[in-house]
Amino acid sequence: MSRLDLTSGVFAGAEAQSRKTLKDLARYFRDPAAIQNEDLLVYETFGCPGEVEGPPRLLYATTVLQPGKVGDEYFMTRGHFHLDPTRGENMLTLRGQGALILMNRLGDAWQEKMEPGSVHDIDGRYAHRVVNTGDEPLVFYVTWMSDCGHDYAQIERDGFSKKLIETPDGPALVE
Ligand code: ZN
Repeated sequence: MSRLDLTSGVFAGAEAQSRKTLKDLARYFRDPAAIQNEDLLVYETFGCPGEVEGPPRLLYATTVLQPGKVGDEYFMTRGHFHLDPTRGENMLTLRGQGALILMNRLGDAWQEKMEPGSVHDIDGRYAHRVVNTGDEPLVFYVTWMSDCGHDYAQIERDGFSKKLIETPDGPALVE
């Protein structure tokens, strides 16, 4: 058993499994030149490791995504496809406001609003990325199967076809 602090997103006694700063994520933003402090923390992940040995089993983790923008583009996770499209993922938002961006292999992208209590049943065929549109940390809990396989390379190379940016009318998903 472990114990999760629902506000901070941190499991009792746990160190962050991974930590991404603006330096790590610069290439994912439309305007990397707008980065002012590349050491600024964007997100941390707590809980199970991403890849484990042995028979397939259910893994879980939390992510704490900080508020902020690069230019007009909100802070976000890298995003990835699963190598096995039959392996989905389930996400529960604990704190904050944001969006889950989904994209199929044809490059069609859409979003689901994230707010405390929102549950997202992610089809294993779709790339997924999370964006923080609020002014406090966006905290969410995720479960997935250990044999889903993670493909970060395609997103690193091609990105998402749409980006969530700040506009006078609020967050907007643009090409
Ligand atoms: Zn995933």
